[in-house]
Amino acid sequence: MTRPSVIVFAGEPASSPVPPAPGPAVAATPASSPVPPAPGPAVATTPASSPVLPAPGPAVATSAQIQTLPEKILKDAWAGNESHVLVSIIGPYKMYYWDIKQIGHDMELESEVINAYLAVKVKDFNKENPRRQRATFIDTFEMSNIWNKGTSRLKIDPLDYDVILGIVNDHHHWTLTVMYQGQKRCQLLDPLGESAFKVKRCTEITRRFLKSKGCNISRLKRNSPPHPQQPDGTSCGVFALKFAENILSAEEHISFATTKQAIAEHRWNIATTLIQHTDYLSANCCYCAGQRDEYTYWITCDVCNRWFHHECLGRPPTHRSYICGGCM
Ligand SMILES: [Zn+2]
Ligand SMILES: [Zn+2]
Repeated sequence: MTRPSVIVFAGEPASSPVPPAPGPAVAATPASSPVPPAPGPAVATTPASSPVLPAPGPAVATSAQIQTLPEKILKDAWAGNESHVLVSIIGPYKMYYWDIKQIGHDMELESEVINAYLAVKVKDFNKENPRRQRATFIDTFEMSNIWNKGTSRLKIDPLDYDVILGIVNDHHHWTLTVMYQGQKRCQLLDPLGESAFKVKRCTEITRRFLKSKGCNISRLKRNSPPHPQQPDGTSCGVFALKFAENILSAEEHISFATTKQAIAEHRWNIATTLIQHTDYLSANCCYCAGQRDEYTYWITCDVCNRWFHHECLGRPPTHRSYICGGCM
């Protein structure tokens, strides 16, 4: 069997060692055999055809590295594969083939993708920015609350941040809002252009939100910098993310290419970034995203090495290799 080239995901060590489990050693099993519940942390098994060898001492993983190229996931997803197979976890955000498909041509980005991408960009900004500014983002679910009610139960102290980004979905249209608490300023960047009504509404909502978090700002400046506008009916999410990216890179002018081909490239880059920045996937069931534990039977895909609860897959037969929906 030829395997695809190995991609090492962020946070995943090259050789993907699994921490040795305390307690008795657990034998590795051939691929597609359900793994018996083991005491201690979940234990990886070896690929098909590896011999079953009960090892003395703590069990040691031999192969658990997920092997799928981002390009392959992307091409498959954009060609219509919408398998319920997890391809990326970024903090609390989980993306399956379906989510990646939604980044493709003429599709509307959905919340999970928007939030995960903002999480990556904000993390990079906080790690790298030389001016020691702090940024954060409010996720789309909370932003909708704030946009509709002006308040939120979100625990956040605006004084901790120089820039707070929030992408809101207003009538199926993504728009970026930015709060600069220290500068007593807010911005609205609508991929279709800003109406005076919407800018005013954004200012009122921001003021009410900041007040609810203890920042009493009587006068809030507002502006909407010039920016490219979406030329189609589906790219508002892509544009809102590009605006956020431009703002975080402190570019004076918000500019990026907006030809059909350029938008396709932005989509490709967003999807690739999300796949490459995944947290360590081998700790999760790639169906339900649940954490691996010692009380459950597990099965692994013979091609990509993703792990699944045997139960989550509807208990497929274990006498032959299992190949997941992403690899079929
Ligand atoms: Zn599961
Ligand atoms: Zn697979």
